[in-house]
Order: sequence, then structure tokens, then C-alpha cells
Amino acid sequence: MASSHTFEPILRRIAAEIESLAGRGRPADYIPALAVHDPRRFGMAVAELDGTVYGVGDWRQPFSTQSISKVFTLALDLAREGDTLWKHVSREPSGNPFNSLVQLEYENGIPRNPFINAGALVVTDRLHTQTGDAAGTLLEFLRAESGNAALAINDGVAASESAHGDRNAALAHFMASYGNIGNPVAVLLDQYFRQCSIEASCADLALATGFLARHGIRADGTRLLTQSQAKQVNAIMLTCGTYDAAGDFAYRVGLPGKSGVGGGIIAVVPGCCTLCVWGPGLDERGNSVTGVAALDRFTTLTGLSVF
Ligand code: GLU
Repeated sequence: MASSHTFEPILRRIAAEIESLAGRGRPADYIPALAVHDPRRFGMAVAELDGTVYGVGDWRQPFSTQSISKVFTLALDLAREGDTLWKHVSREPSGNPFNSLVQLEYENGIPRNPFINAGALVVTDRLHTQTGDAAGTLLEFLRAESGNAALAINDGVAASESAHGDRNAALAHFMASYGNIGNPVAVLLDQYFRQCSIEASCADLALATGFLARHGIRADGTRLLTQSQAKQVNAIMLTCGTYDAAGDFAYRVGLPGKSGVGGGIIAVVPGCCTLCVWGPGLDERGNSVTGVAALDRFTTLTGLSVF
């Protein structure tokens, strides 16, 4: 097990190296609230298994979690309903963009994996049925794991997601026509947009991801997932966590990871630590340019990966 602040010198070195990439990529512009971010910003945090957290750059700056939230809703639903979930969503990489509709028809409304939007909508729908408040359950979990009671939903971002949400609405209605959505579509979309609009920093998200490095154990020592379930979530992050670039991410970084269009990426070194990077400039697949580069450097410099 790593001791406290083991990786601090490496983080400083990475931050210096990443400066040569400053400004690369473009912030997500499908909603105005995300387009305003400066792509030169960069933060990176490491959380060790005991909850020690440290970082460089803008590691305490909250940003829009977006698709990173899908990891936590998956874990929270899996913890409640176990393998029943897999009757409603598959576990294969899609090779298509995150908001693709094309595979849903020939798969009878069963999405390809829990991290494309269709799959994440199914997971949120099921978590909402289990809890009566999917986004609230997620927010409480993130607050508890990060120790940051101030974490909140950005209502302006949620409203903007909703105003530009035709594609997600189409996905949800399409799956509902196959009987794979249990709540009214309007209720589900509201939950999903609020889930994506939670703001958290690299420090918060590195800490909140800790249960995946601790094989299912939460920050307070209680168990959220079985060891097998934690392995399963990590495996799905590795194969499906970075849109249609998961192969390249595995090749370069070699860790389970999940990106979001807010520019964040979380990554897990099982049994050792968790990482979160933030850089709002995205590549053409929707992954943070500086974020992927920083994680690539981290695993290269430390030799830590799952391979
Ligand atoms: N709220 C976004 C959407 O559903 C999430 C996008 C993402 O981070 O992949 O379109």
C-alpha cells in the first residue's frame, strides 16, 4: 500500500510537462454553460486508500461531473439490485459515440453498456425506482465519500441540459417503447440531467472513487459492493469508460477510467489509489486532452497500471 503523499513529486512533474499542451482541445459546446471554460486550466488529484488526498493545479476547482456520474449510479444500483440490472443493460463496448441511437433497435431496446447515454438512462431509471430519488441518492453518496457536504447540483446546467436534451429524450422514449424504462420519461430525464449537473473537484471525485480501489469498501469502512462487483465496475470502466476511445485509453493509460464532457476523468489503481484529472479542452472523441496525457504520464512514470 502506498504511504501518504507518495505521488506528490510525480504530480508536480506531470503538471510542468502538461504546460506544453495548455489550451489544446475544445470545451464541450453542446450547452453554453460548458463552453465557457478555459482549456488552459488543469488540475490533478490523487487519493490514497486511507483517504489522504493531494494534488496540483486546479485540483480543488469544482467542475461539471457529467458522464463521470455514471460510474456512481452504476455502483449504487448494482449494490441494490445485483445481477438483475444486467437483464436491462449489456456490458460490451459500443464503438459508437456516447449518444448513439443506432444499436438500440437491433438490440431490442437493451443498451450496449451502462456508460453510453442509453445505458446510463436505464441505470438511472432503475436507481430511481429503487430509491425514489436517483440524483439525490447520488449526491448524498458523493458528499459522504468526499467528506464535502457542500457538493451540489448546478441547476443552471441542468436546465440547459434539459433545453438541449432532445437526443436523450429520444433514447429514453425509444427504450420505453421496448418496456425497458419504468418511470415516466419526463421524470427520468429530470433525474438524469440533474445527475450530470453535479459539480465536484478533482479532490472530491478522487475520494469518491476510493471504494473502487478498496475492492468495494466505502470511506467509512462499510461495504458498498462485493469484491466481484467492484471488479466488474472497474472492468466496464476499462472497456467502455472513455467513449469510443476506450481502446486507446487502455493502451496509453492502462487503468479503469471514466471521462465526462466537463473535462474530468477519474481513474482507479486497484488496491493502491484513485486519480482525478480536469482539463476542459476535449479531443474529437470527448475526452480531456490534458487529462488523458496526464494519466498516461502517471502510469508511465510510476509503472502502475492493471497490466
Ligand atoms: N449530460 C451529457 C449528456 O447526456 C453527458 C455527456 C457526457 O459527459 O458524456 O449528453
